[in-house]
Amino acid sequence: MVTMDRTQHPSKSPSIRGLIRQGLAVQITLALLILAAVLVALVVRIGLVNEQERGTRAIGELRSATVALLGTVESIDKYSRLGRPSDLAAYSQSIAELRKRMVESGQWLEGRNKAAVVQTVADIDQWKATVLEPVIADVHNDDRASAQARLLSPRNDESIAKVGIPITTVMDEQVKDQLKSEQSTRSAVLVSGVVVAGALLALIVGALALLLPLRRRVVTPLEDIARASKSIGDGDFSARVERQGVHETELAAGAFNQMADIVEHHIDEYKHLDDLKDQFIAAASHELRTPITSIRGYLEMHLDGEVGDISPEQRKNLEVVQRNAMQLGELIDDLLTLSSVNQQGSVSLVTERCDLAAILVEVRSELQPLAAESGIEVTMTCEGDLTLIGDPTRIRRIFLNVVSNAIKFSPRGESVSIAAVRDGEHAAIRVIDHGIGIAPEDLPRIGQRFFRAQTARETYGTGLGLSIANELIAMHGGDLTIDSAVGEGSTFTVKLPVAGPQHSPLALAQKPQTN
Ligand code: ADP
Repeated sequence: MVTMDRTQHPSKSPSIRGLIRQGLAVQITLALLILAAVLVALVVRIGLVNEQERGTRAIGELRSATVALLGTVESIDKYSRLGRPSDLAAYSQSIAELRKRMVESGQWLEGRNKAAVVQTVADIDQWKATVLEPVIADVHNDDRASAQARLLSPRNDESIAKVGIPITTVMDEQVKDQLKSEQSTRSAVLVSGVVVAGALLALIVGALALLLPLRRRVVTPLEDIARASKSIGDGDFSARVERQGVHETELAAGAFNQMADIVEHHIDEYKHLDDLKDQFIAAASHELRTPITSIRGYLEMHLDGEVGDISPEQRKNLEVVQRNAMQLGELIDDLLTLSSVNQQGSVSLVTERCDLAAILVEVRSELQPLAAESGIEVTMTCEGDLTLIGDPTRIRRIFLNVVSNAIKFSPRGESVSIAAVRDGEHAAIRVIDHGIGIAPEDLPRIGQRFFRAQTARETYGTGLGLSIANELIAMHGGDLTIDSAVGEGSTFTVKLPVAGPQHSPLALAQKPQTN
């Protein structure tokens, strides 16, 4: 089914507003990504600081271990002199333990300090092999003299000096280096954090500074032009726009206003010509009415035999003339009605409370002979309160046109249904047929004066009935929509406002209404 739809389809192109939103989203995503990267870098940097701290701690431990080692060496020396062999094995073990820690801690050192520790560990090993272990053996063998000799030997003193003194110096140096590098890493983290945060802020502020004026100076003027164009499309030809924004939007606004001036001028001219044409049609139709009435009168006299007998051949010919005279009369009536509803103020609705269901019953019975001729059944349903405020003669005219079309454009034996329901503040009346239908390309022109669809060419008509119906519906504040498909049928939906509380019999009695 095709619907007469005059609304604009939404554009698929992106709007500038959308592009700005997209741009902002990209900027913010970029900023967030950079922020995330910076956070990761900071976490890595902080991890580095922690590593350095661990290194510093380990070096501290190494230093204590070295000091302890020196103490142990002294103790061994003292105890071996006093001769307490049982403790020597334990000292030996604790030296092994300290050596292990020294090797472990040495991994945090670098360069010359690392070389010094490696050397010291080698010196410890050598001292252990050349002095300590032989001393322990001497003590076990109760050879105190030999043990003392070894301990007092210059070689022992030399070993101890080698092990102890440089290592503490190295340790102190290393701790100082570590602390310095920790400090510089911390400062670097802080500075890079501040720099990156500043850059991000500048990025966001820059983006806003670029995009917000774009919105104000480009999007808003363009939206104004779009709004004004729509107003003109809706019939308000006085719509104009302010020249604002950037150079290009000012140019567009200027061109728009110029075009609107021209359109308004043409529309005024067109309205004037249209009025003249309506006046001419009204006058001409009026002048044609009298002779056609006279022709029909004389024809009837002849057909009724009032002026003498006529042959069957003459009767046949006169009946053709009568049919054509009747159609001419209908056309003149339609033209007169149309020109009277078109000339503003020349026709007024005589409004009153009226029962739509009763009007529809009347229309149906009036069209019954036409329907019977084509063997068409017209069904009708009415639901809810369908009281309207309107001109019953004009409302009758609307439905006579719409329902007679449904009958006229349906094949013999089909059915036509009229269904009236209450739809909120309106009465919705659907006239449904299963007739010839209307092609989609003709649908938008249905209701224009004299327009007849391709599908209707074989049926007699003036092409004025629906435009009269349209005008009368509009005068009543309603609207007409059409759904149709060729070969399947059509649904004409008329919506008319129902009576509100302000139209109660009492209120109307106090103030009779005319539109
Ligand atoms: P006409 O005198 O031709 O009926 P109208 O103004 O009443 O003039 O209708 C205009 C045109 O709309 C018709 O000629 C026809 O093409 C189309 N039309 C109206 N009603 C129907 C219908 N129920 N089914 C098919 N076409 C229709």
